[in-house]
Amino acid sequence: MFVWQNFVNKVCKSEICNFAKAKLCPRSHECSGMVISMKIDTIAAIATAISDAGIGIIRVSGEEAVSIVQKIYQNKEKKNVLDQYASHTIHYGFIMEEDGTVLDEVMVSVMKAPYSYTMEDTVEINCHGGALMMKKILMAVIHAGARMAEPGEFTKRAFLNGRIDLSKAEAVMDIIHAKNEFALKTSVKQLRGSVYDKVKELRDQILYEIAFIESALDDPEHISLEGYEEKLSNQVFSIMEELEKLLVSADDGRILKEGIRTVIVGRPNVGKSSLLNLLMGQERAIVTDIAGTTRDALEETIRFGDITLHITDTAGIRDTEDVVEKIGVERAKKISEDADLILYVIDSSEVLDKNDEAILKLIEGKKTIILLNKSDLSEVTNQKAIEDLYQKVFDYDGQFLTDKADSVSLLRISAKEKEGLDALRAQIEDYFFHGKIMSENELYITNVRHKEAILEAVESMRRVRQSLENHMPEDFYSIDLMGAYASLGKILGEEVGEDLVNKIFSEFCMGK
Ligand code: GDP
Repeated sequence: MFVWQNFVNKVCKSEICNFAKAKLCPRSHECSGMVISMKIDTIAAIATAISDAGIGIIRVSGEEAVSIVQKIYQNKEKKNVLDQYASHTIHYGFIMEEDGTVLDEVMVSVMKAPYSYTMEDTVEINCHGGALMMKKILMAVIHAGARMAEPGEFTKRAFLNGRIDLSKAEAVMDIIHAKNEFALKTSVKQLRGSVYDKVKELRDQILYEIAFIESALDDPEHISLEGYEEKLSNQVFSIMEELEKLLVSADDGRILKEGIRTVIVGRPNVGKSSLLNLLMGQERAIVTDIAGTTRDALEETIRFGDITLHITDTAGIRDTEDVVEKIGVERAKKISEDADLILYVIDSSEVLDKNDEAILKLIEGKKTIILLNKSDLSEVTNQKAIEDLYQKVFDYDGQFLTDKADSVSLLRISAKEKEGLDALRAQIEDYFFHGKIMSENELYITNVRHKEAILEAVESMRRVRQSLENHMPEDFYSIDLMGAYASLGKILGEEVGEDLVNKIFSEFCMGK
């Protein structure tokens, strides 16, 4: 209770200080806040895809948006009266050429500041969707005084004008690029503030502790730090737990958003390409019964139920003198190293050989599903044969398939008879999503930049814990708490430099 009272009085004078903005600055400190210069001229761009379509939209934003479009827009009474229309209304009319001829029949909407996407006056011209027409109208708007927007500049303005934080701005881009249901759903949630809310909650907790320490140091007569170490230690533990949870979600999130990097390995002729074809539901890889037909790696992105797999069918792994094939084999090894999941295909109608020994070494430590293919033929290689080979290769005296069940499993399939796919999908879901694809209330971090910021925050919190263990002076705690606070602030865009902001928005598409 007393904490807030105490330090609201000591507001930092700096205009760019985040603490000052929140009227919570504990003391006048060296500020690392951000100042970003923003051009405030009026910008315009085509906001829809530049292809032949029913409707296209040209978006104009800035102080002069209305007056610029007014110069080229006439209503059906042939009047240039756009500035007389109320905000959030849409109007039928025409875009006129300089010589007075009609360029297109349009609907024009007016959104006055601050109730628009950018928080600036915004006009959107709904014209006919041909690429040529949209370009002509954009040129007319530019001619009338607007500047061509840079990629992402509308969203950048929404960010710099304070309507959205950086995590929401990035979510906008993710919605546009979403390739599956999960990516779309999480991006929409992030735009609605899921990441923002969590990060803000953690930052508020950290800020409270900083405030308490600073207040106690400034006013030791009234605020005692007696017994505080234990309280802070509990708080640090709980914050770190939350941060670790977010990091785990970042791994799941990447896999759900981008897909599982999957590699199909196995000796030549065991049915790898047949499996890939089956997963894809079409003939893509060349299937032959001559060993070594798949010479290089084939890459495909496939939807497997709710899961996206980025799947690579490698050249069959075996000792080979064929140079071309040898390059493929080397690549297979390299790709397997980076994979999230390995599908190791074995021809169950044949005996295992020394190439399988090499493959067992390759998959060691990786999430693997061993597929005993050709289950329609009589079985020569079974689970026991694989166990025996593993024991021989690794001099292992346990049951490898049982002992490592959380990362290696075995399924019988027949690529030819299309049998075993449901079990394969269930196994993948079990490995990566603990049996369920996505829980509605779970928060996923899907942005690498956010993950890095969280890692930094964890590092700072670890240092706080260390200082606590070593009973360092309280100043030490507050310095690293400040560090964690600042790192998390990067996610919201509060502690990032102009270069990074520019880079993030330059990755947006035109007109967004
Ligand atoms: P890869 O070299 O590992 O890619 O093997 P392919 O997919 O080219 O298959 C090699 C041969 O095995 C082809 O003649 C396939 O038709 C055959 N084959 C693949 N899967 C099965 C299966 O489940 N049962 C049977 N009987 N033959 C299969």
